[in-house]
Amino acid sequence: MVLVQWRSIFNLRRLYENIRRAINWRIFQAVLTFRTLTYNTHMSQGYLVDCLFEPIFWFVDNFAGCLGKVFVFCVTVLTAAVVAIAYWVGLPYWWERNPYITVFLVIFGNWLLINIIFHYYMGVTTSPGHPPDGAMISEAASICKKCLSPKPPRTHHCSVCDKCVLCMDHHCPWLNNCIGYFNARYFFLYMVYMVTGVSFLIIAGFDLGYQVLWVNDNGGLTQEDDPELIGHPVRMNQSGVLVPVQVIAEYDSENLPRAHNLPAVIITEAQRITAHALKRKAVVFMVIMCLSVFFALGSLTIVHAKNITRGETSIESHLNATLRKTHTNHQFRNPYNFGRQKNWKLFLGLTQGRTFLRHILLPSPHPPTGTGLTWHIANNGIEDWP
Ligand SMILES: [Zn+2]
Ligand SMILES: [Zn+2]
Repeated sequence: MVLVQWRSIFNLRRLYENIRRAINWRIFQAVLTFRTLTYNTHMSQGYLVDCLFEPIFWFVDNFAGCLGKVFVFCVTVLTAAVVAIAYWVGLPYWWERNPYITVFLVIFGNWLLINIIFHYYMGVTTSPGHPPDGAMISEAASICKKCLSPKPPRTHHCSVCDKCVLCMDHHCPWLNNCIGYFNARYFFLYMVYMVTGVSFLIIAGFDLGYQVLWVNDNGGLTQEDDPELIGHPVRMNQSGVLVPVQVIAEYDSENLPRAHNLPAVIITEAQRITAHALKRKAVVFMVIMCLSVFFALGSLTIVHAKNITRGETSIESHLNATLRKTHTNHQFRNPYNFGRQKNWKLFLGLTQGRTFLRHILLPSPHPPTGTGLTWHIANNGIEDWP
């Protein structure tokens, strides 16, 4: 009996060992099969990150079109709200301070506003330019794998628009449009005028914001929706002394204030704004909007300005950065870099006698020079490039 028991235990151990071995063998086989099927010599960290980001790319490719319309709507509504608050809160404040300066601020602000609206509208509605369908492009540098059509130099395929875009910079959801050859100037000048616009509001509204949010003096004024004044302390003559109102005796039988010789309390517009709940909230909204736009769009403008100075698009700046790293001893040179001044002139379209005063400081629909299909190269020595 004892022997049988010992044997059964022994068998159980062997059974356990066998099962364990069998499971390990199956796991090993499964792992080997998986590794064999998914083996890739190009497997790297970058490839893995690309794979993990694939769902995000898919989302952007499929929904950027719909999101773009929402973004354009948001930009329009927020800009309109900021302008409305500037008039509603800022204008009376400045008018009380100095009517002459106010007139100047209104003219200057509206000049910026016209430029912002014009460049945004043109940026949204102007096509960036696409290679012509079915036409022979002798200068085509390559073939687009997605359109299966010739690709002129500097052209890139946009996966959101599902088209090749001439001199493509990037796809902008805020404009719901690709930024390319024919609308890059509108996009850039929109950013410049927008940053100037919020800087203008920050400077002009700095003291107002300081008075309302920091000093926070409502001049003894009560909220509009407050109940009866009786029983509430009020401040008299800016003395700081709080006097409880017991009886309203300052009115005569005709409900008109009784004449008296007491010095009248001077209430400033900043105090009126502080006391006005909605205007106070509007000031907070302006501070958040202006500062966030200033920092976000300001940094983006600097990045684009650097690219323009170097004669590169955003895509080219990435490509060229890689080329510069790999061509350390050969000294890579961007073929579309004509020097700082000429790069800017070409980008802004300041050729054929166009002037900065008329064509940049005022809204101008002039197209860039050339077709966007063919490109002059900096070192080919042709002098007719404007
Ligand atoms: Zn394409
Ligand atoms: Zn696009």
